[in-house]
Amino acid sequence: VDSRPMKVDVHAHVLPMGLLGWLSGVQLRGSVHVQKEVGGYWLRHASGLSHVVDPSFYDVGMRLSQMDRDGIDMSLLSLPASVFFYDESPSMTVELVQVANESVAGLLSQSAGRLLGMGLLPMNDPTAALTEAKRLRSLGLVGVELGTSVGTTMLDVPEFDAVYDQLVRDRLPIMLHPYLGIAGTALPGQDKYHLSNCVGNPYETHLAAARLMLGGVFDRHPDLRVVLTHGGGGLPYQLGRLDHAYTVRPEARVAALRPPREYLENFWFDTVVYDHASLEYLVGLVGRERVLFGTDRPYSMACPPGSWPSEGDVGLAGLHENALALYGLSARS
Ligand SMILES: [Zn+2]
Repeated sequence: VDSRPMKVDVHAHVLPMGLLGWLSGVQLRGSVHVQKEVGGYWLRHASGLSHVVDPSFYDVGMRLSQMDRDGIDMSLLSLPASVFFYDESPSMTVELVQVANESVAGLLSQSAGRLLGMGLLPMNDPTAALTEAKRLRSLGLVGVELGTSVGTTMLDVPEFDAVYDQLVRDRLPIMLHPYLGIAGTALPGQDKYHLSNCVGNPYETHLAAARLMLGGVFDRHPDLRVVLTHGGGGLPYQLGRLDHAYTVRPEARVAALRPPREYLENFWFDTVVYDHASLEYLVGLVGRERVLFGTDRPYSMACPPGSWPSEGDVGLAGLHENALALYGLSARS
């Protein structure tokens, strides 16, 4: 009997070949384009970011051997934020998301249970998003990945309430992933030095989390479970500021029934913070039962093994049990 605790990576990206082929054959109008060229498929973003899609994005055997090398037992796969496609026509996004979710589900079946997946939703058409949400469990997916906004529409608008109700009913956690700066609409000043990622990503997550809390989403959906990537972005370090605003500024409490800190119970946080001191701070703030191990592979910005949490930081075993519990997974038998 193997008594070593399981290691579960909840933040790992995948871009299945079936989806790449489909994307390269359709006329996309938004900020991301996929082209087949010499050397493979290229992802080209309006932001200027472009890269060839490395085989580790779609080759299941390669992913499993990387996991073996690093002692990771299970990875929970999500699509890259590049392919949310909220800026396509709704009918195109609906079709894209169906292909994407089916292609992720297809990869899982080749992994003997070591790869699990989450789906996307066409959030630019909330009615279609509800329909797709109802399909995720039947595809074998265990969560959903949403952008930190849907273009300029924030996640606390009532149009998304029916989707959130469905996700609660099906016990599907949401993983929020920043995407605006990745795909092409970074804020001024983020266009150089990779700051759309280093500053933009944590900002997008901070803002989205604040909107969920102050927008009353967790009052309307007390059982909604939300995973914040990159250690919650700027939120953990600035949570006191939100609480203070809730106390002294009437406009901060027009919707939420409770101070922001009390909604921490709806959030989980991954460990993609690159720094042991940051990780210790995060665990101290939110509690170790709210922290999940993640890598953000296979990007160059993935958290390298040297900055993964150690027993000294947080107690590794507990992080993986958190992931199993949150996603309703069973440990190896
Ligand atoms: Zn990521």
